[in-house]
Amino acid sequence: MSRTIHWYRDDLRVEDNPGLIAACEHAEAPGDVVGLYVLDEHTPGIRPLGGAAKWWLHHALESLHKDLQQLGIPLLIRAGDPQRILLELAEASGADRVHWSRRYGGPERELDAAIKADLPDKGVTVESFAATMLEEPWKLQTTTGGPYKVFTPFWKALSARDIAMPEPAPAPLGDISNATARLTGSGIELGSLEGLDLLPRSPNWAKGWHEIWDPTESGGHQQLRTFIDDDADRYHSHGQEPAAEATSRLSPFLRFGQISPHQVWEAAGSIKDSQSKTRFRTELGWRDFAWHLLYHFPQIPDVNMRSEFDNYPWKSAQEDPDTFQAWTAGLTGFGLVDAGMRELWGTGHMHNRVRMVTASLLVKNLGIDWREGEAWFWDTLVDADAASNPVNWQWVAGSGADAAPYFRIFNPERQQDRFDPDMRYVRTWVPEYGTEKYPDPLVDLKETRRNALADYDTITGKN
Ligand code: FAD
Repeated sequence: MSRTIHWYRDDLRVEDNPGLIAACEHAEAPGDVVGLYVLDEHTPGIRPLGGAAKWWLHHALESLHKDLQQLGIPLLIRAGDPQRILLELAEASGADRVHWSRRYGGPERELDAAIKADLPDKGVTVESFAATMLEEPWKLQTTTGGPYKVFTPFWKALSARDIAMPEPAPAPLGDISNATARLTGSGIELGSLEGLDLLPRSPNWAKGWHEIWDPTESGGHQQLRTFIDDDADRYHSHGQEPAAEATSRLSPFLRFGQISPHQVWEAAGSIKDSQSKTRFRTELGWRDFAWHLLYHFPQIPDVNMRSEFDNYPWKSAQEDPDTFQAWTAGLTGFGLVDAGMRELWGTGHMHNRVRMVTASLLVKNLGIDWREGEAWFWDTLVDADAASNPVNWQWVAGSGADAAPYFRIFNPERQQDRFDPDMRYVRTWVPEYGTEKYPDPLVDLKETRRNALADYDTITGKN
């Protein structure tokens, strides 16, 4: 008998999951494959999830549990130290194999390496699989052998590769009740999702989110199909307009691995408008680029990639709490920014163009450290991930790899005129816009722009 534990992390799906498929290839009967999810909030360096992501995770696990049941695979739920839990579970269940999909953050890789070194001594074979990126971050190298720091050549290299085709879900192993009985017969508890305490209670700020999101694997596929059939051909022409609903909104499904980038890539092959197809696939490439950067520069979530920015005189949120609070609450007096911040709070998502504009206002006009904004997004985005969030914040701040040139400071009023000319988006989220109830702008854009550029000159030695 062989029994495999598939340790689920950011790959919460049954389709196109090579580790799960391989586990089923080793199996003969229901119960020979066991799924495991461990909520790990204490391993140093691994960032505990923010509130919005926890909401998503709860529902993703709930639906994964049901999908796995159809395959005769129980899902065990635990919280705590994964190394200890895996060891105990392997021993109690007689599992001789552990599979997982690889992760790419620094502390996650350290933990996985420690487990990989430890389990074989206990007679357990560990195998890791590529499942969450279009390409493994170490497989793409510049001509001199180092990591890429600039997107365009990275993308050239990535898009020239053969992107793996997605695989279907494994065939069912049999009746779930037999599988569960085998586990409970060995004294193994299934564990409860409620015990992870992932949902908000008082207040329940996620009330109504089920009307916006279906955070399940099949919900992700439905979203992908709707996008490809109805909206993808407008991606190039209207993808920058927040009111146009011409983007995929697949980011949280990709974040939690309910859909794989290979599935999205393949589906994108049927986008008819060729500019839209290329542009959409390029955005998927940005996701890989962010993880490529985090893999090679694991300090990105905390440290400026361009070290001259260590001297930039950003304020912390505590130093200017009223300003920071106005930004988070969508009360800056800049319509596009306030609409974005309220959309974020109301839905856990924000359109990419608006993310750039809200981030730019905070960092360049309000003079607050990008790490403060990044932390707010981390807590409020359903798609917050340890690579895309800091990499994009550093891109906007100017401190990152391949960052926007510092002098390109988004003007939120001009961005609004350009990308929301009829104010459909702004009026949806800021109904009092243009009335007496709406606050005056927090800062003078011209003056703060001048100050930001002068501060930049001081760190680059021009002043
Ligand atoms: P689409 O336009 O439909 O794009 C398809 C997919 O490509 C997305 O689902 C996403 O997986 C990927 N993608 C697109 N743009 C980017 C990008 N710039 N960087 C990385 N991946 C990208 N994205 C996250 O997934 N998690 C984050 O925590 C995150 N934080 C961000 C913070 C800031 C300040 C900014 C400017 C951007 C951030 N993004 C983040 C990137 C981007 O805004 C979102 O991926 C995108 O808005 C998601 O919406 P969509 O699925 O409709 O995107």
